[in-house]
Formats: sequence, C-alpha cells, structure tokens
Amino acid sequence: MSDFDYDLFVIGAGSGGTRASRVAAAHGARVAVAEEYRVGGTCVIRGCVPKKLLAIGAHFAEDLSDAKRFGWQVPDQCEFSWPTLRDNVLAEVDRINGAYTNTLESHGVDIINQRAVVTGPNSVRLADGTEKTAGKILIAVGAHPAVPECEGHELGITSNEAFHLPAVPRRILIAGAGYIANEFAGIFHQLGAHVILMNRSKEILRGYELAIRDRLLQISMMKGIEFRFDATFQGIEKLDDGCLQVSMANHEPVVVDCVMFATGRVPNTHGLGLESAGVELDDKGAIKVDEANRSTCDSIYAVGDVTNRVQLTPVAIREGQAFADTVFGNKPSSVDYDCIPSAVFSHPPIAGVGMTEAEAKSKLGSVKVYSSDFRPMKNVLAGRDERALYKMVCDSETDRILGLHMIGPDAPEILQAAAIAVKAGLTKAQFDATVALHPTMAEELVLMR
Ligand code: NDP
Repeated sequence: MSDFDYDLFVIGAGSGGTRASRVAAAHGARVAVAEEYRVGGTCVIRGCVPKKLLAIGAHFAEDLSDAKRFGWQVPDQCEFSWPTLRDNVLAEVDRINGAYTNTLESHGVDIINQRAVVTGPNSVRLADGTEKTAGKILIAVGAHPAVPECEGHELGITSNEAFHLPAVPRRILIAGAGYIANEFAGIFHQLGAHVILMNRSKEILRGYELAIRDRLLQISMMKGIEFRFDATFQGIEKLDDGCLQVSMANHEPVVVDCVMFATGRVPNTHGLGLESAGVELDDKGAIKVDEANRSTCDSIYAVGDVTNRVQLTPVAIREGQAFADTVFGNKPSSVDYDCIPSAVFSHPPIAGVGMTEAEAKSKLGSVKVYSSDFRPMKNVLAGRDERALYKMVCDSETDRILGLHMIGPDAPEILQAAAIAVKAGLTKAQFDATVALHPTMAEELVLMR
C-alpha cells in the first residue's frame, strides 16, 4: 500500500469522473471523488437528461393537436402547467442523482461534497482547507456555458437556469444556433413562447450536414420561430416595465422577457491550481492530454468536456472507463473517436454519424449521395406539412457508407441502430439487400435513391 491517502483522487463526479471512480474502485483502487455541486454532472443535473424530458413534454403540444385528426376529442385550448413539468423533471433528476451516489458508495468510493483544487502532482486541497494526497489525480470537472462579454449580460440566463424558471417566458431570445439553442428553441416554442434565435454567423448547427440543417431552419421558420443571422450581441438593457431590450449589430433591437445564452461551453479549468503541477492548457483553456488521457504532468489525467475533444456524455464515459482500465485494471485501452453518432433534440430532431457530404468531398474528391425526402405517414394524416429528410454519403469507388444524416420524427432512435452498420463499414448495397420493414420511417434507409 502506498503512502498516499488514495490511489486515485477524482475531481468532478459527472459522467466521466463517476465512471472512472467506479471502475477504478472495482479494480481494487482506493478512490475518492470531490464534487462541488451535485453527483451526476452536467448531463444528469442540468443537461441531456432534464433537457430530453422537457423536449418530450413539449412535444405533447403537437401530439395533442394531431390527435384530433386521429379521432380523439381534445379541447382547442389544452391547459399546460409548467410547474408540473418542471418539478417532475427535477424530481427525476434527484432520483438519478441518488442512483449515481449509491453506485459510487456501493463501490467503496469516498464522496467528498466540496470543491477540490490541485496543489501539486499528487496533492489536492479541499474547500475546508484539508489536504489529500493520491498516486493519481483525474480531472473531470466539465465545462460551463460561455456568456459573451457585453453590457447587461448578467440579465440573461443560460441552460443552467432554464430548468428552474418560474414560468415559460412569453418571448425569449436565444443567442447561439448550436445544439442547446436549437433544442431550447423547440422546447420553448412548443410550450407557447415566441422564440427568436440570433447567431453571429449566417448558419445554424455549424458542422452538421447542410441539407439537414437547412430543413430544420425551414421547418422552424414555418412553425413561427424567428431568426437573426450575422447578429453580434451588443448589450441588454432592462426597460421600466421589466422587459429586456437586446441590441445587436445589423438588426433592429428586440424586446423580450428572457434572454438565454447558448454560445458554447468553456472548460472549468480556471482557478483549479493546475499550474502548480505543470498541467498545460490549450488556447481554449482545455487540458491537453495524450491518447491515454494523460496531461503534461505524469500523475494527472483528464477526461470529458474539460479536455474539449468531443463534448458528449457517452464519450466522457468511455474516456473514464479507458482511463480506469488502463491505469488500474492492467487492461490498456483507448477511445475510438471515429464515427461517433450525435443528435440534436430539436423539433423535429436531427441525428448524424460519419462525414457530411462537404467533408467527404474534400477528403475523397468524388462521392455518391443518396437521399430520401418524405412526409412521415403520421404527418400526412395529421395534415402537418413537415417533411423528413435522410441523406447517405458513400465512397464512389467502394460503395462504403461514409456518413448518414437524418431529420424527422425519432431520427436519433433510428440513427443509433444504423450507426452500428456505418461504423462496421457496410456498403449501400448491403443496406439495399435488407428488406424494408413496412410501414416505418426507418425503411427509407434501405430505399434511398
Ligand atoms: P455549440 O458549439 O453547439 O454552438 C455554439 C453556438 O454559439 C454557435 O451557433 C456559434 O456560432 C455561437 N457562438 C460561439 N461562440 C460565440 C460567441 N463568442 N459569440 C456569439 N456566438 C457564439 O454550443 P452549445 O452551447 O449549443 O453546446 C455546447 C456543446 O454541448 C455542444 O458542442 C455539444 O457538444 C454539447 N451538447 C450536446 C447535446 C446533444 O448531444 N444533444 C445537447 C447540448 C449540448 P457559429 O458556430 O455559427 O459561429
């Protein structure tokens, strides 16, 4: 047994830190994890989980209206209670927080409910002044929402606060046009708010397949969501009536009840004492790590959003697992970052895996592109003029599928299964050799022209 207090001290009990703690403990390590807020991290407490539940809740607005065409008698004005949805979602968050805590405890991990900062290659200091030592330190502190530096920025909220609002704002302006902005635009719009989305560039969801994000933009505009592009934030002013006036370059000011920033996330490295151990950061403040998640200090590792590689929960979990298996389980492993599927839980949702058409063309020159542009049968009967779009990008020489991109009902559910085939390197011909499962939306995957 070493002279250190622990074999592993983890800072941050989010997705990556929790997995690493549990697995390292299962491999026999003496582990402590410090968490300054709540066990579960961004995904469980104020990210993926509550957001998805809000998106499901919001979708009932359309489902209830569509139900009439399917013979159900639904009043024209259905009553919606935000406090009921909000509090039920927060109660579910509490339940999962409890489950995560139990898992750590049942593996013998010491949970320290305090902020910890690094004081050297093998030491940390807790908020109460106690020093702890460990053979290895894992930084898994995640990231926080970026807020542009502009006058009145303190009047705005971020996704952190969105889950606790006292009421659905009547009018909301969301700054940014990435994942969080489009997901909350859909949620608030469905819940009855007038939504304006503003972005500094001319596009939404940079990096996603162009045709798919164009379709989301078109559907969102059709639903009544407003967009302001080329719009740099200049400031927020509180008016006498309590409303917020937002000024932006290239556009007239807008008056709303709530402003939400969804302009990316910043690694939580500030004030973490990393310089005391020679841990280097990149120009975005993220911890530089090698393939084995090791920082520039031999005894300090980092996983998850704080490393700003791929900011997705399942990736952080894999990084935490690989770290623990490699360092404590004598099972060297690393994460394969190729073909990671992702989804945007917008209304309708988007999902994609592999290369976009533009990426594939710039890498391979020529590619073959197939697509299916269709109106899901539920939308047809409901009289909803909302079309789904699937797009497949293939290597023109080998027929191998390089990318698959979708927008439409249940796109993330369908794509997760299809992503296995894309990751496995299957070809368009192999998709086509599979008989369609009729009538489904997913059958379009094997019928693309
Ligand atoms: P994104 O990186 O998705 O989008 C950021 C948006 O803000 C872009 O539209 C960008 O504009 C704009 N922006 C960036 N910096 C500034 C700035 N300084 N001033 C004004 N606008 C700016 O970030 P999100 O905050 O939406 O989400 C953070 C990350 O969290 C995502 O990248 C994703 O990895 C993860 N996430 C994943 C989800 C999922 O899997 N479903 C859900 C939510 C978050 P542009 O790029 O056009 O220039």
